[in-house]
Amino acid sequence: MGTLGRLVMLMMPITPRFVVGWVAKRYVAGPDLESALRVMRSMKSQGACFTLDVLGEEITSLEEANFFVKEYHRALDAIIAEGMDANISIKPTALGLLIDENQALENIEKITRIASNNNIFVRLDMEDHRVTQSTIDIVIEMHNRGLTNIGTVLQSRLFRTGDDISSLSSKLGGYSDVRICKGIYLESEDIAHTKYDDIVIATNNAIDDLLDAGAYTAIASHDIPVIDHSIAALEDRGMGPTTDDPRGNAGPVRNGKGLGYEFQFLLGVRGNIRRKLAKEGHRTRIYIPYGSRWYEYSMRRLRENPDVAWHVAKSIIMPWTNRR
Ligand code: FAD
Repeated sequence: MGTLGRLVMLMMPITPRFVVGWVAKRYVAGPDLESALRVMRSMKSQGACFTLDVLGEEITSLEEANFFVKEYHRALDAIIAEGMDANISIKPTALGLLIDENQALENIEKITRIASNNNIFVRLDMEDHRVTQSTIDIVIEMHNRGLTNIGTVLQSRLFRTGDDISSLSSKLGGYSDVRICKGIYLESEDIAHTKYDDIVIATNNAIDDLLDAGAYTAIASHDIPVIDHSIAALEDRGMGPTTDDPRGNAGPVRNGKGLGYEFQFLLGVRGNIRRKLAKEGHRTRIYIPYGSRWYEYSMRRLRENPDVAWHVAKSIIMPWTNRR
């Protein structure tokens, strides 16, 4: 952790809520669905599609999960009503995964079934290592129950990710649909890479493995070496914006995702690179978090990875490098 990171950690308990709110404004669409829809409408012209995420994780009672089931239902209704090219992302612990795995499964199935009936994809966000296996298991169970509109996220910093790619693709074949990212949770060196260079190598290897496995590959990184590697890896396999997915082992086209890959960006981060990729014809997606729990989300993210503070500082000092 750098000096700025340590300083942020020290200051966090005394940082006024409005300061956190001011920082979060760039990365969070707003406190409710209406604000998320407004952001999506205003960014539609940038050639991107969207992922809606209702903020909140690690609930303490199962009653709280009902709120998320209802809110995701509302979000799906809005996506359908507005005809948005959008899907949803869910944090399994917000649906009760750490309290009652079966109940979480039922909650996730409820949401996924509504989405499936409307040809909308559901992504289970990946949280920390305590729930890696159970999150993957839920996706496989949903596919066993006939719901193929669901996939998850793998974190390249984890040593296990290569094995997870093999096992997911052997179970789901071309129906596997994976968002690959570095992983926001700073895991211990017993189970994860901790150095930047190693994490980039692991990310690039994971992207290659997913492409070779025929998986729909959602590349979620703002890091230039990863994006450059991805473009070269796609070209090597004859994939790209001007051609349908040529891979013999890819699954059927679902949810309008014919190219077999997409680039994903967080709201407020490196919009300039995203817009350039979209202009070149690549499918790009913006992850739009919203909800009343923006404060907890922002504090948690800062606590987990204080380096985010550097990104924030940079976007304030040099705003032209990081327009939303
Ligand atoms: P970095 O090296 O961290 O960043 C590269 C550059 O991007 C930085 O130099 C900076 O300029 C810019 N940047 C990166 N992050 C920020 C930021 N927050 N604010 C401003 N600038 C920034 N992680 C999970 O563990 N589970 C998930 O389910 C998950 N879902 C994600 C979904 C999407 C769409 C994206 C884009 C990321 C997701 N992540 C998830 C986070 C991811 O794992 C990384 O922590 C995050 O993307 C930073 O890694 P990076 O590859 O962008 O590279």
